[in-house]
Amino acid sequence: MGSTLLVNLSYIVASILFIFGLKLLSHPETARRGNLLSAVGMLIAIVFTLFDQAIVDFKWIAIGIAIGGGVGALAATRVAMTSMPEMVALLNGFGGIASLLVGWAALGDGSMPGFTLLTIYLSILIGGVTFTGSLVAWGKLSERMPGRPIQFAGQKVVNSAILAAIVLCGVMFVVNPGASAWLYLAILLAVVLGVLAVIPIGGADMPVVISLLNSYSGLAACAAGFAINNNVLIVAGALVGASGIILTNIMCKAMNRSLSNVLFSGFGSVKQSAIAIEGEVKPLSASDAYSILEAAHTVALIPGYGMAVAQAQHTVKELQQLLENNGAEVIYGIHPVAGRMPGHMNVLLAEADVSYDLLLEMDAINPRMETVDVAIVIGANDVVNPAAREMEGSPIYGMPIINVDKARTVFVLKRSMASGFAGVDNPLFFKDNTRMIFGDAKETLSHLVREFGDS
Ligand code: NDP
Repeated sequence: MGSTLLVNLSYIVASILFIFGLKLLSHPETARRGNLLSAVGMLIAIVFTLFDQAIVDFKWIAIGIAIGGGVGALAATRVAMTSMPEMVALLNGFGGIASLLVGWAALGDGSMPGFTLLTIYLSILIGGVTFTGSLVAWGKLSERMPGRPIQFAGQKVVNSAILAAIVLCGVMFVVNPGASAWLYLAILLAVVLGVLAVIPIGGADMPVVISLLNSYSGLAACAAGFAINNNVLIVAGALVGASGIILTNIMCKAMNRSLSNVLFSGFGSVKQSAIAIEGEVKPLSASDAYSILEAAHTVALIPGYGMAVAQAQHTVKELQQLLENNGAEVIYGIHPVAGRMPGHMNVLLAEADVSYDLLLEMDAINPRMETVDVAIVIGANDVVNPAAREMEGSPIYGMPIINVDKARTVFVLKRSMASGFAGVDNPLFFKDNTRMIFGDAKETLSHLVREFGDS
């Protein structure tokens, strides 16, 4: 009894640390502390769980920690910053399969109350959908499978029929837990549903899907917590479930889309060739760009995925300082879905010690754009695409963007005329006030930095 009390007290402490950790994660300045606090909470939860008398065999726990911890540490140190979303997708998938296995193992001979059976069923079911759904998301993001929406006639009907069959299996399972065929059938249906639910969603929407699957993995863990009667798993699962759905909502808002539009519209399958873009492309050399920049009073830097690819954040910071020394005001415009994961640009710029005060979100920078002398787009494309504002037929129509085209002059730093992640052409490149500076972003920025240095 004494040890149970101690374990539960430790769970309360761990839960409090999780909640404060999450709170601190909401600002870049406190995020590291938040992460540490949550990790300490998790450590406390794990250590005290080991005191639980229910544990019979430490050997398997040690083997699990060694293998899981080893693989996790190796993967985390090796993963490139640009591949982080893929890793998150895989981790969500592992969370899902873990809940499925925990729920399954908790079933035993099935002699338990109906509520426990229901939670076992839910942990297995949601875990299964999360597992295969996350694998498909990982495949799409890592381009191991086509990123375009894969659709077929009657897709929604098939998915709805599978969902109905899963509910039916659930009823049969709870009424008669001894008949394991219902459970096996449900597991099969759940893993198939995970695949079918994610394949019709385009690659550009994967961040939202991953965030949603993250929420599912939390719900699965929460259900597994009920199944094995573990309070901290219930709390942690609920926190992951809730924060995942909040992030999903924030991302949908950033794209001006509803969740159902993301999940069911097959965004990106529309061919855009019918839309003609007028104007001509005007390339500019870095030396000529320097002459314009030297006279600028206000410069806005708009980073995107290409800054991450070029690893140009430190050179961006150098240019910022040189511009400031030259008397210009420099601000950064950060779009919520710039890059390949939420907060991607913030993390990179923080690495280069760019002050948080200079980072303006879309709503803060857009009203100022008309007073900006030069907006420098550094490897961004979709998040500055005016087609989202101007071209009703465009697949990204309605997505809020950073209005760089309203600045007096726009420099676009990229290597070619290629489209961005959404695969949509960008009329910004053809506007009168736009100059294209072709080349690797880091090289172009280094060139500009050298020009300032020589002056
Ligand atoms: P985009 O993917 O739209 O565009 C990036 C641009 O960077 C490309 O057009 C590419 O052009 C250029 N680029 C690549 N490498 C370099 C380089 N070395 N130097 C210079 N330029 C380079 O990026 P955005 O950030 O504008 O938009 C993000 C997109 O990703 C959105 O569609 C978003 O929905 C999606 N997404 C967002 C996630 C998130 O959570 N933030 C996650 C997953 C997807 P070129 O090849 O010509 O150089």
